[in-house]
Amino acid sequence: MQLQVKTILNAIQHFPGFVYQEVRLRCRRGHPRCIEIRLEPHQGVRAKCSECRQPAPGYDRLPERSWLFVPLWGIVTRFFYAPRRVECPTHGIVVEHIPWSQGKRPVSVAMMCFLSQWARRLSWRETARAFGTSWECVYRSVEWFVSWGLAHRKLEQVHAIGVDEIHWGKSHRADHFLTVIYQIDSHCRRLLWVGKRRTQATLRRGLTTLGAEVVQGLRFVCSDMWRPYLNVIAAQAGQALQVLDRFHITMHLNQALDQVRRAESGRLRAAASVQAARLKDMRWKLLRRGSRVRGKARAQLGTLLRSKLATARAWMLKETFQHFWHYRSLTWAGYFLDYWTERALRSRLEPMKRVARMLRTHQELLLNWFRAKGEISSGVVEGLNNKIRVVTRRSYGFRTYEAMEIALYHTLGRLPEPKLTHRFC
Ligand SMILES: [Zn+2]
Repeated sequence: MQLQVKTILNAIQHFPGFVYQEVRLRCRRGHPRCIEIRLEPHQGVRAKCSECRQPAPGYDRLPERSWLFVPLWGIVTRFFYAPRRVECPTHGIVVEHIPWSQGKRPVSVAMMCFLSQWARRLSWRETARAFGTSWECVYRSVEWFVSWGLAHRKLEQVHAIGVDEIHWGKSHRADHFLTVIYQIDSHCRRLLWVGKRRTQATLRRGLTTLGAEVVQGLRFVCSDMWRPYLNVIAAQAGQALQVLDRFHITMHLNQALDQVRRAESGRLRAAASVQAARLKDMRWKLLRRGSRVRGKARAQLGTLLRSKLATARAWMLKETFQHFWHYRSLTWAGYFLDYWTERALRSRLEPMKRVARMLRTHQELLLNWFRAKGEISSGVVEGLNNKIRVVTRRSYGFRTYEAMEIALYHTLGRLPEPKLTHRFC
């Protein structure tokens, strides 16, 4: 038997009630430009109403439309079909149900899924280039794919969530912050919601989207010390244990240390001190966890720490705080916190004192980390936070907030996907 394109099409995408009529190759100056696939209604099968999917009597036929299909051998491939209109007893005169089509979109469902799946492995721009289409087309396809996934996802067994703020773009306007909610249960880690800004209203909007059932079923809520979030969480998910996680506290300590280093470095350079050289290129060596600094960097760090510099004292404070997370007893962890904040407050390092005051204000929430021990791993919060940053940075090319929001759900939402009879990639 000779293999025809129609045979392949019937094998991978057979639409009951429709037949592949003809397949044509269009050439320009001897080069293949486009494969045109014409479909026709199956004789004797009545068209279905697009609203209720019930067979209905025919009314008339609309002009031919085209849909972009998955490219064959790298050649742009299109479906051509003239949709029928039906007279549905309930819905009146409407266009028929077309299984490969979604509303007025000029791209077939199979192609939208195909592009979306590639858009997870490549950037949107690369996806468009690889399959001979536009960035806009990839964007619209992923948009549809994500909205399908969001409409079909199940929000069951959500017990632990993390709430985070992410900065994106270049300016520091309020619009350039995002609030993200992710699920951090050990059985499922995913992005649940993302919204613009980081106000109480933003988080309230997010929790409303998740629904009262999810919010009332929460047992742990992890977040940073951002007041608007703490307020909303306390008011709406009062039954859940509110936890300040290790990742965020470490971030605050690192920021404080970096402020001390920058200020001191500036002072020393202004005074043309020989000590200035000690602080040069030390940023990452200082911010890393001490046990992870090795080799030559270790020796440089050692020299810096033996000096009487403020940066050295700030580093010691940052590093000592790591002990806090290893306590088993809540009481001893509490004692350690008192001891550490006491030392930080007497350190004469303003950024460190600020962190100490913040930790004292939120002592109870901080100690909740021990009450939730074993249930929440700080690695998860950090991991999701990092992944989100990867997407938001790549999204500089996206320019619009909407596109980035879609990209976030697409890569981190673990959304269900529409089922096709054939996997195209
Ligand atoms: Zn109907």
